[in-house]
Amino acid sequence: MSDETEFPPQQQDPPGLTEHMDPVPDHGEGSYVGSDKLAGQRALITGGDSGIGRAVAIAFAREGADVALSYLPEEEMDAAVTAQWVQDAGARCVLLPGDLRDEATARGVVHRAAIELGGLDVLVNNAGYQMARRESMADITTDELDRVLKTNLYALFWVTQSALEHLGEGGAIINNSSIQAYQPSNALLDYAATKAAINNITVNLAAELGPRGIRVNAVAPGPIWTPLQPATQPAEKIGTFGADTPLGRAGQPAEVAPAFVFLASPVTGSYVSGTVLGVTGGRPVF
Ligand code: NAD
Ligand code: MG
Repeated sequence: MSDETEFPPQQQDPPGLTEHMDPVPDHGEGSYVGSDKLAGQRALITGGDSGIGRAVAIAFAREGADVALSYLPEEEMDAAVTAQWVQDAGARCVLLPGDLRDEATARGVVHRAAIELGGLDVLVNNAGYQMARRESMADITTDELDRVLKTNLYALFWVTQSALEHLGEGGAIINNSSIQAYQPSNALLDYAATKAAINNITVNLAAELGPRGIRVNAVAPGPIWTPLQPATQPAEKIGTFGADTPLGRAGQPAEVAPAFVFLASPVTGSYVSGTVLGVTGGRPVF
């Protein structure tokens, strides 16, 4: 993968689709090998159709978990591909389209996941939105601010509150944070603020839920090649995406998924709670 330091210029409208990306990301389809680290677990992954969410879905399924995927209705094509990979691993896959910016939809997605999977053990709050096609705070419209805060924070609140009606002793919550919580870009001021808030929420919830035997952690990815990037970055910035990291390249979704497995699994993560695990290509997360 080390030769993938440059991508052809490309642009999509949000939320973006995998098949329009050049190159298509690596979600671990040909590489991830499971070892029963999530045997018998039932997981809801928001934004599970594509990108990091798809890689997590494939890894979880190969580790023995059944999964439910939430995604936007216009991403049905991506969700169907992910579902096929999950089923190929011998796992169940429940598809739950819906816009999580709507409270009733967000709560309904969680309850349907729990009903159809027969319970819930792991919640992955992975759905997220950013817009980087601007230079400063002055360029952020109220509509954009609303979309970022609703997707990244309100939805995470509603989904988590509803999931806590189902998660029990041994349960795990993993939030998708970002390097932006530590090294915020001017163009992503609003997004970066939500990711810093997600880190705080992770620490608060770990303290609150520890006594119930529920662990709460976050993963902070660096620049990862997913539909979010061509859908929200200026086309001219795509060429060097990730090149300014110490490892000198963008990461692939397949390289992030093992961090989620580590934190979700009672085998590997049983004493890990309240922490943020960086998968950043070398940028610091402290
Ligand atoms: P992605 O576009 O593949 O995944 C994001 C998903 O969020 C979409 O597929 C969509 O299903 C979901 N989503 C967005 N708005 C939604 C809404 N209103 N309702 C329901 N679902 C909605 O891109 P990704 O990069 O894999 O993003 C996953 C997570 O990773 C996000 O939280 C993102 O902030 C985070 N992240 C990504 C990067 C990166 O460089 N790609 C870096 C750090 C953090
Ligand atoms: Mg998607």
